[in-house]
Amino acid sequence: MDWRQNIREVEPYVPGEQPNQADMVKLNTNENPYPPSPKVAEALAGLDPDTLRLYPDPLVTDLIDALADFYHVKPSQVFAGVGSDDVLAMSFLTFFNNPDKKPVLFPEISYSFYDVWADCFHIPYQRVKLKDDFSIDPDSFLQPNGGIIFPNPNAPTGLALPVDTIEGIVKANPDSVVIVDEAYVDFGTESALRLLPKYENLLIVQTFSKSRSLAGMRLGYAIGNEALIQCLKNVRNSFNSYTMNRPAILAGTAAVKDRAYFDRTRNMIMETREQAKEELTKLGFTFPDSKTNFIFASHRSVPAKKIFNELRERHIYVRYFDKSGIDNYLRITIGTPVQMEKLYRALREILAE
Ligand code: PMP
Repeated sequence: MDWRQNIREVEPYVPGEQPNQADMVKLNTNENPYPPSPKVAEALAGLDPDTLRLYPDPLVTDLIDALADFYHVKPSQVFAGVGSDDVLAMSFLTFFNNPDKKPVLFPEISYSFYDVWADCFHIPYQRVKLKDDFSIDPDSFLQPNGGIIFPNPNAPTGLALPVDTIEGIVKANPDSVVIVDEAYVDFGTESALRLLPKYENLLIVQTFSKSRSLAGMRLGYAIGNEALIQCLKNVRNSFNSYTMNRPAILAGTAAVKDRAYFDRTRNMIMETREQAKEELTKLGFTFPDSKTNFIFASHRSVPAKKIFNELRERHIYVRYFDKSGIDNYLRITIGTPVQMEKLYRALREILAE
């Protein structure tokens, strides 16, 4: 017997690599290729270092108010966290706690952090099957469960469910909290926000990392009914009252207020994505019809792993998952048109070999 018997053993989530080369084309972690709103730079330039002596606002008032205003909800319906990973982890801890140990349900091909949090918090879970075309099967959530979570659009497939289908899932599971992880919703999918007035068991989680170009600042949020949000705050405040630091609150608030920039940049990404669908098709790739800032593509003759490695040698980084069922796919983040041209040129070379 020794101290090892008392350890919480976990197999951690492994994020995409973060290489740092001057000439690289980084399309591997679904970051936004455009800088954040210029208002963010202004806000950060106005940060007086002297204020860092003081704790930040534990209520995160400015950011919460800006989000509430943007999404037309009450501030008491918004919770902010250190990236949506933090919000999701807190949500697992708060809402997936049923005493009967019924499993939490999520799609078998999905964000691979879900099973890590479940394992870490000793939450039983079950991965539900997708349809053959990789879409989420709403009927798979019609079984006893201790909670439900899925991304919409799903990652890494890029496929979205219509809000009416989500409503069916939420309605059929009144005894469970249903979490819709909308990390990629701003790239052409309708948000489930409009269901909130009707269903108190729905929680929507979004992030500043993709459509607001702030992955490096670590900002995410949840929107739901007041009771759910209060439960989340109680758990967070039993952990750390000051998760949101001063620069993050300033930057996030400025980004939310600049709706014009948000719309402009996400439209640019959607436009580049639609061009990418044409280019990749010409190159012999197939893919589900992405509504995100990435495309999950498989080549009809060349193995994904080979393409991944050859791109990597050319300092072009995409994501490859060595997992059964998806091990012949590449997840390619949409970059700027110039970055995408470099990708197509490299792919033409690799595929011609
Ligand atoms: N949900 C999904 C589906 C994601 O792909 C990501 C990005 N890795 C996240 C949540 C977390 O993003 P962040 O913590 O940067 O908000």
